Amino acid sequence: KLEVNAVSKSFGDNEVLRDVSFSISDGEFVSLLGPSGSGKSTLFRIIGGIAQPSSGTVKLDSKEITGKPGSISYTPQSPSLMPWRTILNNVLLGQEITGSRDEHKALEMIERAGLKGYENSYPHELSGGMKQRVSFIRSMLSPQGLILLDEPFSALDEFTRLDMQKWLLSIWELYQRSILFVTHNIEEALFLSDRIIILSAKPASVKKEFIIPFKRPRDERILLSEEFLQ
Ligand code: ATP
Ligand code: MG
Repeated sequence: KLEVNAVSKSFGDNEVLRDVSFSISDGEFVSLLGPSGSGKSTLFRIIGGIAQPSSGTVKLDSKEITGKPGSISYTPQSPSLMPWRTILNNVLLGQEITGSRDEHKALEMIERAGLKGYENSYPHELSGGMKQRVSFIRSMLSPQGLILLDEPFSALDEFTRLDMQKWLLSIWELYQRSILFVTHNIEEALFLSDRIIILSAKPASVKKEFIIPFKRPRDERILLSEEFLQ
């Protein structure tokens, strides 16, 4: 279980997060929405332990992990692939932390993401959307139980995105991971998640939480988005 307790963050005079609190149970899929610039990526960096909050704590299974990276898999908004490593070696990077290298599975995932033939290419030879997918597979292969995905499908066309969304749901169901997902796309959030957390504009705090009572068919969820936007 992830617990974010009263997290605040300012950069000098710029107050970005104010008293953000929420929790995520094991196996839950939660989407985080909020206006551009409200502090979603900042919050992700804090939860991922690569940035310190000004105040507040982050706990994973009752253990405090504030400012400590490694316990949670964090995928940044812009894919940060290592330019000197091939696609396959970038994907395998996610597993190197624990030494559980599984090349067969990595190759399978690369193929499933539509990147067959690019295993030995370098990041600069790929498009933006392709790099996003590499970064996404790398997190899905990482051993941590909680995965943070910051707009992983934003650079994809509608068809590829739908395919990746369905794939994400199948991996999530198969491996029983917890996922915290940032998106600007309400339909995407409704399609994927069990619960949606909305942040207010800067300084951001939790404005409302919206529990999706059951996995609805996609068409119904789109209708729901109108109700939701009120
Ligand atoms: P978007 O939806 O556009 O990705 P966001 O909600 O992810 O936006 P953040 O990237 O978290 O927003 O930025 C929130 C605010 O924090 C912005 O005002 C930004 O300028 C500021 N900010 C983020 N990182 C830093 C930093 N390292 N130093 C100074 N200011 C920062
Ligand atoms: Mg962001």
